[in-house]
Amino acid sequence: MLWFGRETASGIEIEAVCRPAQIAGADIFRIPPAAMREIIGIIAQHGWMIAAQVHSHPQHAFHSLADDKWAIVRHENALSLVVPYFAARTTAASFMQDQKTFKLTADNRWQELVVWELSKWLQIS
Ligand SMILES: [Zn+2]
Repeated sequence: MLWFGRETASGIEIEAVCRPAQIAGADIFRIPPAAMREIIGIIAQHGWMIAAQVHSHPQHAFHSLADDKWAIVRHENALSLVVPYFAARTTAASFMQDQKTFKLTADNRWQELVVWELSKWLQIS
């Protein structure tokens, strides 16, 4: 999933979510060029940015090498959320504690946010 948002004075507010056409396998996900062009058109039309991507894993939540390589969001402070167990055990109430959030650093590394940092970067209301 991709979260589309807009930059505001208080941060980026998510205004839409999108499940793009994708090629997914055991350790890969890609968005085909035509679907990517469509996404770019939609976000340009609304003045959005791709603020975050969200995907799930069959077991533990972590950022794999493939996740690093194929990440759709590539700007500094972009967020990549990974939900464990294909989200089968996750509810709206447990989402924040189940998922792990990774933030892209200025030197292009995906850094896991620790619990005390999380609320600075991600708030669900
Ligand atoms: Zn992954």
